[in-house]
Amino acid sequence: MSSMVGKMPEEVQQLCMDLHEHAAEVDLKRQWPSETMSWLAKAGVFRWFIPPVYGGDGWSEDQILNGYLALSQSCITSTFILTQWNAACKRILGSVNEQLKQDLLPAMADGSLFATVGISHLTTSRQHLAKPVLIAERAENGFMLNGFSPWVTSAAQADVIVLGASLDDGTQIIAAVSTDSAGLEASRGADLVALSSSCTDAVRLENVFVPENRIVAGPVENVLQTNSGGGAGGLQTSTLAIGLTLASVEYLQQQAEKRQDLVPVAQKMDRDAEELCRVLRDLNAGESCSMDAAELRQRANSLVLRSTQAALSAAKGAGFMASNPAGRWAREALFFLVWSCPQPVVSANLCELAQIAGSAP
Ligand SMILES: Cc1cc2nc3c(=O)[nH]c(=O)nc-3n(C[C@H](O)[C@H](O)[C@H](O)COP(=O)(O)OP(=O)(O)OC[C@H]3O[C@@H](n4cnc5c(N)ncnc54)[C@H](O)[C@@H]3O)c2cc1C
Repeated sequence: MSSMVGKMPEEVQQLCMDLHEHAAEVDLKRQWPSETMSWLAKAGVFRWFIPPVYGGDGWSEDQILNGYLALSQSCITSTFILTQWNAACKRILGSVNEQLKQDLLPAMADGSLFATVGISHLTTSRQHLAKPVLIAERAENGFMLNGFSPWVTSAAQADVIVLGASLDDGTQIIAAVSTDSAGLEASRGADLVALSSSCTDAVRLENVFVPENRIVAGPVENVLQTNSGGGAGGLQTSTLAIGLTLASVEYLQQQAEKRQDLVPVAQKMDRDAEELCRVLRDLNAGESCSMDAAELRQRANSLVLRSTQAALSAAKGAGFMASNPAGRWAREALFFLVWSCPQPVVSANLCELAQIAGSAP
């Protein structure tokens, strides 16, 4: 494992080694990885994101960034599931509903309550449709939800789903909806090109009542901008793309020790990865930087696709075996083309693929 893992506390290093060893199995099984997720809880990973007042360790943004880089180098599926838990956590932390925070956050910190998020239909999914896919109507002491959330990772495994919904006056709410609510149906997980074990699927809601005390934010226009967590295309997606890049670059470097022809390729990809790591750290620290978050995302998408395909190419036919990490990384890298990708980044990726001008978002 590369130096990124070596910089972490000992229990996280051990966790990363365990995740690395089981990543192929997690991918091939296409079942929710309850074992690796329990290792995350045991190593205290969920506590990183939650302040001490709610039972967490309150890691700094810099520590979390290092943690994400180390974890995503080891098992992208488990780390991706964690990001969706973290997205739910951030929304709850950003809420003014203090009782909700006290009810949910301590149990999220110790890993006994699992939460996920279904908000992309307010940002990057179904934006071309005239009618919102998930509607909220005011009801006595709460709201009634009808429709569906098209993408919810680990929906069937979660206790709580943080959902976004639209009212007919154009305002929106975010609600922490219990998965045992009457009328809520979480599908078990679609067959995907990669990350099938994340068990991502649609959640359907028919007259699901959400009491007022479960409202995280709203009703207000552009609710995602008012509640902490921001919109789509934050640094977290780039962090995971760079983490996966680091895994494939490390593989190229190992191969280059025995194969002279791979040396310039491994060196160039390593320099590119280092540059993006530097930009990521600067942006994460709020420092002025040569790139903004959208450009970093586009560059990270490009590099993760190229570096994982270079690893596959170096691994040759053996890399095309389903159990080989290089083939898996190349499949997993495709995910970054579609995950939480704002339209300017999608357009820039398409221009790069078509090799036409206009590739900067
Ligand atoms: C594995 C995975 C896990 C995810 N997990 C989560 C999660 O946990 N929580 C969450 O909130 N989100 C999640 N997402 C959602 C993700 O962040 C993006 O929002 C999603 O990938 C956007 O894709 P879409 O197909 O919904 O986009 P859409 O824009 O809805 O496109 C769907 C289809 O509509 C058509 N279309 C698109 N644009 C137009 C147009 N302008 N005119 C006409 N037709 C059009 C195309 O045929 C397209 O295939 C996940 C996505 C994936 C793939």
